[in-house]
Amino acid sequence: MNRHFEELRLESVSRSFTNTEGHAVAALQGLDLNIRRGEFIALLGPSGCGKSTALNCIAGLQPLSGGGIWLDDRRIDVLPPEKRGFGMVFQNYALFPHMSVLDNVGFGLKMRGVAKGEAQRRAREALQLVQLVGHERKLPGQLSGGQQQRVAIARAIVIEPPLVLMDEPLSNLDTKLRIEMRAEIRRIHSQLERATLYVTHDQDEALSMADRIVVMKEGVVQQVATPKEVYGRPKNLHVARFMGYRNVVPFTLQAAEGERVRLANGGVQLIGTPMEAFSAKAVSVALRPEDIERAAPGAENAFDAEVETVEYGGRDSLIRVKTAFGALWARLAGEFAEGERISLRVPAARTLVYDVEAP
Ligand code: ATP
Repeated sequence: MNRHFEELRLESVSRSFTNTEGHAVAALQGLDLNIRRGEFIALLGPSGCGKSTALNCIAGLQPLSGGGIWLDDRRIDVLPPEKRGFGMVFQNYALFPHMSVLDNVGFGLKMRGVAKGEAQRRAREALQLVQLVGHERKLPGQLSGGQQQRVAIARAIVIEPPLVLMDEPLSNLDTKLRIEMRAEIRRIHSQLERATLYVTHDQDEALSMADRIVVMKEGVVQQVATPKEVYGRPKNLHVARFMGYRNVVPFTLQAAEGERVRLANGGVQLIGTPMEAFSAKAVSVALRPEDIERAAPGAENAFDAEVETVEYGGRDSLIRVKTAFGALWARLAGEFAEGERISLRVPAARTLVYDVEAP
């Protein structure tokens, strides 16, 4: 297999399943994506959006219903999985329970006809990279979940694949280990200088690990962009909601002011940043609880609020407030009492304005 590829290219990849009534249901529709050597790409979306289907199509575990996959100028979607030679890491590790750690890692090499001595040397190298030296003779059952996942990673990378595919590899681990393993996977990726495609439904994971994020919904790509772009400038309301813009409130467009727009609802005036073209004067405003702040009197985009509930969170609290334009969640430092009246604001650059959602 071509080890030094420059680009993996997906063109209009689609995959349908036949449901119990005999109708074709699209799990993946027209996926276009270029993955460059050295890149870490996260496929992000809620359960059932087609992430695993995309990964399986690339790996060759499922046939495509349409489109094609190229590794540089070579079409690979017609090849069986072993000819594509990609490394795979799954949520459930999928290790052989009766084989030692070393044999688990060396298994793929053995299957490829690599001589025993050479296979052992390379398996040891891979175990060194995932920091499991000293565990070679143990069985998977004698290791912690995090260590087992490291074995699975070593097994995926030992064959020196051009691309490593990971399907929710950290979801069986506890929070602390998950956060440690994020950095580990990123480190291993950087050392290998290959490409990684990482499937997750966890925004924080995607934001902290990926060079680019592919946000999916119902088999269709919504946005492909850097973590900063997806976090700060979600392309549509779906991406915004998924990235933590928990407040979506209706407003009416009043006027354009250069690159910004003036909005009104319930006597409150806001200046916002338009994120897409509008089909009507009725629009949706998306606000992240973390972007709402206490306002000084007369500040731009200030509004009155009454505290309804307070969820204490240590450094800050998540409070639910009532305003003239609807209920909002805000994350603020300080102490609050239910029924307290406060003045809040949100910067115009963080007041994202979208077209109203189709019902
Ligand atoms: P999760 O995070 O829950 O694994 P996902 O985003 O990976 O979800 P997929 O597993 O790719 O989603 O599934 C996408 C859609 O295709 C879902 O609606 C699912 O029900 C459907 N689907 C997946 N596999 C099959 C199958 N073998 N037969 C029929 N439908 C399937």
